[in-house]
Amino acid sequence: MKNQYLNDVLETVKKRNAGEPEFIQAVTEVLETLEPVVEKRPDLVEAGVIDRLVEPERQIIFRVPWVDDSGKVQVNRGFRVQYNSAIGPYKGGIRLHPSVYIGIIKFLGFEQVFKNSLTTLPMGGGKGGSDFDPKGKSDGEIMRFCQSFMTELCKHIGADCDVPAGDIGTGAREIGYMFGQYKRLRNEFTGVLTGKGLTYGGSLTRTEATGYGLCYFTKEMLAANGKSFEGQKVVVSGSGNVAIYATEKATEMGAKVIAMSDSNGYIHDENGIDLAAVKQLKEVERKRIKEYVKDHPTATYTEGCKGIWTIPCDIALPCATQNEIDGESAAILAKNGCFAVSEGANMPSTPEAIEVYFANNMLYGPAKAANAGGVATSGLEMSQNSQRLSWTFEEVDAKLHSIMKEIFKSCDEAAKQYGMEGNYMAGANIAGFLKVAEAMKAQGCV
Ligand code: NDP
Repeated sequence: MKNQYLNDVLETVKKRNAGEPEFIQAVTEVLETLEPVVEKRPDLVEAGVIDRLVEPERQIIFRVPWVDDSGKVQVNRGFRVQYNSAIGPYKGGIRLHPSVYIGIIKFLGFEQVFKNSLTTLPMGGGKGGSDFDPKGKSDGEIMRFCQSFMTELCKHIGADCDVPAGDIGTGAREIGYMFGQYKRLRNEFTGVLTGKGLTYGGSLTRTEATGYGLCYFTKEMLAANGKSFEGQKVVVSGSGNVAIYATEKATEMGAKVIAMSDSNGYIHDENGIDLAAVKQLKEVERKRIKEYVKDHPTATYTEGCKGIWTIPCDIALPCATQNEIDGESAAILAKNGCFAVSEGANMPSTPEAIEVYFANNMLYGPAKAANAGGVATSGLEMSQNSQRLSWTFEEVDAKLHSIMKEIFKSCDEAAKQYGMEGNYMAGANIAGFLKVAEAMKAQGCV
């Protein structure tokens, strides 16, 4: 970076957060794209907005003890990072995965601040989670873990303060157990979590929202560049909540999804993936994706995740996890003619991969903007809870669609305004930043 002030901020971040490479990666990407803003807006520098934004408002770390089915005590570590509340209550998901540590939760919380700002809804940024691994656990074990997790978390959250939701490893089942425990401990029925079941305050379309929103955003990005999903071959990584509904919507928009994966390996079928079978395996039976090939003779299964990016495709939708596309995979995508990458997962592309996209003039839809449909619909769930109303699927879907269109427009316009036309990553960072920065400046040094 040429700007000395931003370099100094980054140096402080690196020193203060040594050993947290994901957090440093996320901050670096944003600071690099803020150079033109810093030059145009010395008032924001003066107000110390960026110095404050790189430090979370509050970080909570706690013990989560629970008893497994054999009667043995297990101990996990729980986290909640209340990152920034300048424009609304903290809002962001809970990740349950053995790789979780404070650096992952901080990077996700940081990203969430900009993403939530882009949605146009009044939500600050936060994120939480635990190093608990839900895989292979019984329902009883999941319930006891979630109850113990919420026993501590409930002291720090609330409908007007901090509203968690799902993320990797946290779906409807886990949200249900957490909500039940919150209600029992606090004796109040409020919209303290989103992603709830439809019988107790959940919103229609929330399940589909991130995947559908990703396709709505991508459709706008393609259209702005004279392209569409129609007739395109698409590779989707993951087979969880985001991947499944991205596949559903991309197919509905005329694309053919030819590959999906889980953390063990990937399936590939040039005839198109049978999504009903994937849903049955992953959502109902909770089995591995390799089981798919048993009933689908034209499909192949390959062990390992990285190989999925060697499958020739027109559009790639990474929907599994952070840093799943590195520079080498991006170069193979480019060589095979892939012209667009749009991110369902958070930070799925390494900095080297992003360089490859730009060097090859590929369209790049960054996660902050492209996957904001999930949290936007969580915001709509909060509105319905406050009003004690529930909107129809069509109503929520229409609102989601228009929010995603608006998000694309803001990214596109901000990129143009700051001299980086077509760079939607810079556009997302700048547009997301400006709203939060103005609010922070207006509220003084807090
Ligand atoms: P799920 O737990 O439903 O699914 C995650 C999928 O990714 C699974 O197929 C999982 O495989 C795979 N996966 C997880 N970790 C890894 C890994 N380390 N390596 C390879 N594959 C992995 O999570 P979601 O679909 O909710 O989340 C996916 C991504 O989307 C995450 O980055 C999340 O932060 C992001 N996101 C989610 C939102 C939501 O509303 N749910 C909103 C915005 C972003 P396996 O089954 O083997 O674990």
